[in-house]
Amino acid sequence: MEALKNIIDSLTQEAAEIQIQGRALRPDEIARVQAIYEALPHLKQALDILSAEIETTLVTYKIVSDEDGKLKQSARVACNFWNRFVVPNSSIVIRLSVFTANSTTIARAYQPYTREGVVYGVVEFNTKYLSSFTRNEISGTIIHEIGHTLGFGWDKWMNLFDSNGVFTDEATSILSDLEDMRVETDHGPGTHYSHWDEQRHGEELMTGFKNSSEHVLPVTIRTMALLGHQVVEDLPQQTDLNTLMDALAQVMFSRQSEAKAINLDHFEKTDLWENVPHDQPLSKKKS
Ligand SMILES: [Zn+2]
Repeated sequence: MEALKNIIDSLTQEAAEIQIQGRALRPDEIARVQAIYEALPHLKQALDILSAEIETTLVTYKIVSDEDGKLKQSARVACNFWNRFVVPNSSIVIRLSVFTANSTTIARAYQPYTREGVVYGVVEFNTKYLSSFTRNEISGTIIHEIGHTLGFGWDKWMNLFDSNGVFTDEATSILSDLEDMRVETDHGPGTHYSHWDEQRHGEELMTGFKNSSEHVLPVTIRTMALLGHQVVEDLPQQTDLNTLMDALAQVMFSRQSEAKAINLDHFEKTDLWENVPHDQPLSKKKS
């Protein structure tokens, strides 16, 4: 791609140099300039196509098993949510399936894994609850779990704050919203260090406990820039999650062809990351 850029630059320069000689051009010079001007738009188009292919990443889903298409419906809304605000630094596949257990576990999520530049997150839903859940309740859970796959709770996130859950000067100098935020330090593995503090930010999407009515703070979207992603739309103010999801449910998932270019099927068994609801004991070590 660099070579193509260089060709475009040198042809543009050559055409300019021929034309600024301050005398009438010879027929061969006129022909050369014309040829360059004919070629340039095609070369630029080729460059655009190549750049787009490399830069296009997205959040998409894979349905392994489902109940009445409920996971699929909900996954579409959840992917639309993140694709609206963020271009991830690598594509994300959220892999969804059902399990059946007579327990209070609604869903369980596993540690994300990476292969060939794609990050995979696995979430399983308990059929005991799935049928009685609304689409928004399921979508909300998937949105939260994709939040983790995008980095809430691992890698870059872990370096942003101290052991008291207070964000470092370096982090707040990049994003001042973080001055008001605290990271969860209670409730043990699966919850602490990977969420906003429940006491302080209770009903926010990325706190550790699910609430019946949740909202999204602008900082949740803006933090994605610190986790290595590109924020393509800002959320200007605290917004009700149901309102956002209702609007996104009207949007078709329009990036099927791009999603098809991603390997949706790759699967690795990883450790359990968290249970939903989050107040269930988890034997995960502190990471
Ligand atoms: Zn969580």
